[in-house]
Amino acid sequence: MLYEYKIKTPAEDFINITEYVSDAVAKSGVKSGICIVYCPHTTAGITINENADPDVVTDLLYALDKTYPDRPEFRHMEGNSSAHLKTLATGNNTVIIIENGRLVLGTWQGIYFCEYDGPRNRHFYVKVMGD
Ligand code: ZN
Repeated sequence: MLYEYKIKTPAEDFINITEYVSDAVAKSGVKSGICIVYCPHTTAGITINENADPDVVTDLLYALDKTYPDRPEFRHMEGNSSAHLKTLATGNNTVIIIENGRLVLGTWQGIYFCEYDGPRNRHFYVKVMGD
């Protein structure tokens, strides 16, 4: 089963989408299997990270800015190569195990849609597969 979700994003942020993914798993009826969360954009990503202390996301965004700053040497006409690089760093998908109809996530883990070049209307997919 494939589910699509649409979100509006700010300029740059990690948006917690764990509830969307849980919703897809519940709708699918799958009790044991895996799901793939996939972002079909080139300046946004998907990752799993801490969901308890919001300062973690703030620190990650700060560190990504320091690691992948805009550079005058960049040639890409759109001027957002920094955002493309941040997407490269986080990737555009993640896989989560499903057991007993629930996502197998650690206590402090959340699933994030990573916006690096907003604000935009974005979407992502959740593909749920039973074993
Ligand atoms: Zn671009």
